[in-house]
Amino acid sequence: MRNRNSRSRGKNKQDPAVQVIPLGGLGEIGKNMTVLRYKDEMLLIDCGMTFPSDEMYGIDIVIPDMSYIIENAEKLKAVVITHGHEDHIGGIPYLLRRISVPIYGTALTLGLIQNKLIEHGLRADLREIEPGDRLQIGSFKIEVLNITHSIAGACAFAIDTPAGLIFHTGDFKIDYTPLKGDPIDFQRFAEIGRKGVLLLMADSTNALRKGYTPSEQTVAGTLDSIFATAKGRIIIATFASNVNRVQYIMNLAHESRKKVAVSGRSMINIVAIASELGYLDVPDNTMVDIGKINSLKDKEVVLITTGSQGEPMSALTRMASDEHKSVKIKPGDTVVLSSSPIPGNEKTISNVVNKLLEKGANVIYSDIADIHVSGHPCQEELKMIQMLLRPKYFAPVHGEFKHLHTHAEIAKSLGMPKENIFLMHNGSVLDVSQNAARLEKKDVPAGSVMVDGLGVGDVGKIVLRDRKLMSESGLIVVVTAVEAGSNYIVSGPELISRGFVYVRESEDLMGTAKVIVTQALEDCIDRGLTDWSSMKSAVRDSLREFVYEQTKRSPIILPIFLEV
Ligand SMILES: [Zn+2]
Ligand SMILES: [Zn+2]
Repeated sequence: MRNRNSRSRGKNKQDPAVQVIPLGGLGEIGKNMTVLRYKDEMLLIDCGMTFPSDEMYGIDIVIPDMSYIIENAEKLKAVVITHGHEDHIGGIPYLLRRISVPIYGTALTLGLIQNKLIEHGLRADLREIEPGDRLQIGSFKIEVLNITHSIAGACAFAIDTPAGLIFHTGDFKIDYTPLKGDPIDFQRFAEIGRKGVLLLMADSTNALRKGYTPSEQTVAGTLDSIFATAKGRIIIATFASNVNRVQYIMNLAHESRKKVAVSGRSMINIVAIASELGYLDVPDNTMVDIGKINSLKDKEVVLITTGSQGEPMSALTRMASDEHKSVKIKPGDTVVLSSSPIPGNEKTISNVVNKLLEKGANVIYSDIADIHVSGHPCQEELKMIQMLLRPKYFAPVHGEFKHLHTHAEIAKSLGMPKENIFLMHNGSVLDVSQNAARLEKKDVPAGSVMVDGLGVGDVGKIVLRDRKLMSESGLIVVVTAVEAGSNYIVSGPELISRGFVYVRESEDLMGTAKVIVTQALEDCIDRGLTDWSSMKSAVRDSLREFVYEQTKRSPIILPIFLEV
């Protein structure tokens, strides 16, 4: 009876619907950003960045296209941040340059955001939250839940909306024995599940991996045995943001009467921020300045550094190439890469490992020891979250399409109907209400905005195409001085090239090229074609043909005319 009543009520009166709009993080791992919208109120979950792909020549970082948010700026009530990784906070300065909005996060998350804002010369309304907090932001009631991940201060959000409860896991793993802090509060998760979760959005990063992600304790065990056996200096490269792992290394150093120095900009920054906020408790008399380590005995030295991904400018890479000012690698050193390669970085990491081995160091990395664990959940953990929360609808997030697809299969294997699962992409609009969910036909604008130096979005397809061409075949600039008015040649053309051929060794080629361009320009003028575009085409066409014939290369050709 009750069922029929509620069904007919649903038919007669429109159920309130909430829109879920991912603007980043779907079909990719990076730049996570999701909008929840109810009528004229919007809430933003995370605001991340990603690193450029190999074809994005000279690009520093990539952020989500934020035009939908900028257009609806007056509706945006707040930004809530799940945790302080770059793929969740890196876009914040670019958002705050355009609009002002309060930002909620745990103390460490806000500390890392604040650090970015100072670099960008920005101020913001930052509001600290902690697990257990309940916030009311417009029509959204948010419960903040502790979650285990590879950075301290990570949370999930249970967001009660007029349509029903939307649960966003953030990035997580199920670690029953985290190095520090509490495991997930399973009872609370189950209670929320029992009350009813309308839509679950959950981390898909490791959806292809069977089983469970091992606990951080696994890494601790490996570190214990390294400290017990290393005879000389211990140099450990790890992700600066894994504050609990850094803490564990500091404790081990303290217990074995060693001193710790830190190296690398992000490591120094995060150690400073985390100690100030109480996430990191540096044991007394443990830290030393990196400049002092050469005055200590080798067995007293522990160095924690950046560069676990073989980043070219990082401290570890500089050590491996003998370019570090205070640290020279020598036999007897134990170098630990406490990380596993992010896809794409295998080659650079391998180079660093080879160079360190050549210098006689004992190198410990993920291929040979359990020295890193992922911060993301494998299949059995994903099932656990589904079973605890028992959502009506499900949208996998945080992954490439193959990850989202496999995550959807996992939900299906647990009995969720196919039509209740939504594989979205950036810009999708999911309308969800108590009795129905559907994807709208029309997307909102979404995509990638490239940041190069101070320019945001000014480098587009055409500039990238030019950079690609220049990087492949170089550039020839043709400078010609012409008489003002008549456009007769006064001097030149002169040919200047970069990245095409080494001119001193190709004098003949460049000499002939100059003759050919001169001839083409004179022909052009003889035929009365003295407008800029005809003259530019004459230069481009004649030179392109000649250069290709002689070299089978197609450099960019840039004609420049100076009126004198
Ligand atoms: Zn993360
Ligand atoms: Zn992430």
